[in-house]
Amino acid sequence: MTETVDAPTVTRIPHWIGGRRVDGGSGRTGPVYNPATGRQTGAVDFATAEEVDAAVQAARDAFPAWRQTSLAKRAELFFRIRELLHARREEMAAILTREHGKVLSDALGEVTRGLEVVEHCCGIPTLLKGEHSEQASTGIDVYSIRQPLGVAAGITPFNFPAMVPMWMWAPAIASGNCFVLKPSEKDPSASLWVAELLREAGLPDGVFNVVMGDRLAVDALLEHPDVAAISFVGSTPIARHVYEHATASGKRCQALGGAKNHMIVLPDADVNAAADAAISAGYGSAGERCMAVSVVVAVGDVAQPLVDAIKERIPKVRVGDGMDPSSEMGPLVTGEHRDRVASYVENAPGEGATVVVDGREGVPEEGFFLNPSLLDGVTPEMKAYVDEIFGPVLGVTRVATYEEAVRLVNESPYGNGVAIFTRDGGAARQFQFDVQAGMVGINVPIPVPVAYYSFGGWKSSLFGDLHVYGPEAIGFYTRGKVVTSRWPDPATSKIDLGFPQTR
Ligand code: NAD
Repeated sequence: MTETVDAPTVTRIPHWIGGRRVDGGSGRTGPVYNPATGRQTGAVDFATAEEVDAAVQAARDAFPAWRQTSLAKRAELFFRIRELLHARREEMAAILTREHGKVLSDALGEVTRGLEVVEHCCGIPTLLKGEHSEQASTGIDVYSIRQPLGVAAGITPFNFPAMVPMWMWAPAIASGNCFVLKPSEKDPSASLWVAELLREAGLPDGVFNVVMGDRLAVDALLEHPDVAAISFVGSTPIARHVYEHATASGKRCQALGGAKNHMIVLPDADVNAAADAAISAGYGSAGERCMAVSVVVAVGDVAQPLVDAIKERIPKVRVGDGMDPSSEMGPLVTGEHRDRVASYVENAPGEGATVVVDGREGVPEEGFFLNPSLLDGVTPEMKAYVDEIFGPVLGVTRVATYEEAVRLVNESPYGNGVAIFTRDGGAARQFQFDVQAGMVGINVPIPVPVAYYSFGGWKSSLFGDLHVYGPEAIGFYTRGKVVTSRWPDPATSKIDLGFPQTR
């Protein structure tokens, strides 16, 4: 969708190249809305391939000096970035709420989880330590080092406009790379705000760049010969496209895709705790989280009490403008997305599911709101089960046994997050062994790993080998080198044409 900048209240959102704002010259822009009012507040520039090239060039030019910057200086800079981000976190959260719609407390949570990744990167001297073997052979030492790739690019989704970019730029830059970010065109302002903050913290110009845009900008990054690595987070079809094209043009790529996260509730679980968790993880951020619970799998007798407990809680969820501190759930990101999510509630009875709570009722006329919906009797062939709805629609699937529940999860094409609710330690341990997903919660509904582990799913939730942030990110943004070294004594030097042997 493209629109021209006409209304005076609409702010232009440009690129950030080489340490300054750069207006786009394509004449193409995308609308940015305040989802709580439904009104357009911004027009984001859509980059041309030449503008993408200028950003990559700025990054490439900044790389030699940035790579030379000592680990001590990089760590010091990251401490400054951390302090600034922490001091101004509420300002950043307000930007997220105004463009994404999520409530302020949730936006602040997003900034805090992103900050944890920045904090982890303050330890970059330790994270980049290599190994050393003295006297590997007589008079020979062997050691390993990790070096940056050059220019890395990140392409990010609308649902975490601050945290997901932090998953990428923080470890990429700390490891010595320069970075080009292509944020979601739906809520791009947080990325510009971060660019200015990084400059204020002292990051040299060109180390961090932002190109705004759509598919054209993404494809220009995927094909650019000077981009060495691509990190992507978004929906599965685009993740697959990005992975295939990036790797075909010789780039390193990690592409995180969509999800359909199951929460299994065993008969022995505490029904109230499980219902609280289902509400929090199903409707938090209006269900627009890649780790949101989308399907509650109720095993055996727990089903009816659980559905009753979730239903009882839904009217208490306060839906409203995210800037209002009393709101617990905000609107969806666009009107188009809200209508798509609502269509799953509309179509559920035709597919044979029961609409226990219809979130289309009682929504304000202004803004992109949808109240929480609850569907019961959802079965694996229904669209409400198969599709990633990405909204406040929770489905309940009833099964008879633990084995049936695990089979459902393992037959899903996705494998991002999964959770089990039980009081049986043995069952939980068996579940962690059996289940095919990258992030597992045991009585924890949204098991997003802390920053010193890595984040990533299995199957169609991740294309590529390495997960994001934590130790795997350091591996992703660097190349290993092993040095075999001898300082010969000239007195013992001789010619030997045989293959080197370790003796
Ligand atoms: P999206 O796939 O529509 O967009 C993601 C990025 O790709 C954006 O920057 C967008 O501009 C770009 N893009 C869109 N269409 C493109 C195309 N045809 N060619 C090239 N680039 C294109 O995703 P979204 O709607 O912004 O975000 C929601 C999705 O992201 C959900 O599927 C969610 O599960 C997923 N997500 C996954 C994770 C994870 O960790 N696995 C985390 C957050 C979000």
